[in-house]
Amino acid sequence: MKTNFHTHHELCRHAGGNAEDYIKEAVKHGFTEIGFSDHAPNDTYDFGYRMRDEDFLQYVNDINTTKRRYSDILTTYIGLEIEHLYDNGEYHNQFKDHLDYFILGQHFIFVDKDPKKRISSFGLTSKEEIIEYGNILCDAMKTKRYKIVAHPELYLYGYLDFDATAEQVARQICECANRTNTILEYNGNGYRRDKIQTNEGMIHPYPRQSFWNIAEEYNVRSILSSDCHSPKQLYDDTMKEVEEIYSKLSTRKVTYFEQF
Ligand SMILES: [Zn+2]
Ligand SMILES: [Zn+2]
Repeated sequence: MKTNFHTHHELCRHAGGNAEDYIKEAVKHGFTEIGFSDHAPNDTYDFGYRMRDEDFLQYVNDINTTKRRYSDILTTYIGLEIEHLYDNGEYHNQFKDHLDYFILGQHFIFVDKDPKKRISSFGLTSKEEIIEYGNILCDAMKTKRYKIVAHPELYLYGYLDFDATAEQVARQICECANRTNTILEYNGNGYRRDKIQTNEGMIHPYPRQSFWNIAEEYNVRSILSSDCHSPKQLYDDTMKEVEEIYSKLSTRKVTYFEQF
């Protein structure tokens, strides 16, 4: 692994480490590029553990001042992992002038497209809910705001069996990704989560092989991320194991920011 574009920051209040802590770890492992994508603030809807609205500029300043000090060793980019909302882009526009990219991290689906009426993407159980998850990912990708979709198969976390509906959603996501030139993420952080019982046995909730079989069929663009919430997770034993599995995929792999 030489790059990672899904890196968190202590300002989200459930990760540890500031910009320098992560950059030092990246340098230690010989990375050439790192991108920060902490959870975007949203005090209005209170999505849970996120940085506060008032902390956003501190996030930007911490990364920008640190990146200059290390610029001869590695290149640092700044982004956010952010939810899609059904607005006209106002939510994203308040951040985007400070950023190089957005990652879509859709941790919720919405009833009637209303962020106040939300269901966690980790707990979807019905066919209707996972179909809605596919729809919101596609609607998000169509806006072209996002370079990467984080853990696209998150809908399988609660909807355990990869049945015909789960396959249909996987196909919809892959088809939309190709049509909009969006990169799908192979998220190593899922391998840090406890195994769950599915119709394919006891497995980590994501990355999910049945989803990635479809992704291979569509020959999607993909990227490997650690989604690290502490500096040591940037490239630990779990990531080395995930990297090995990812290396066997036949998708169109993206590694560097200029390929975005
Ligand atoms: Zn997080
Ligand atoms: Zn993340």
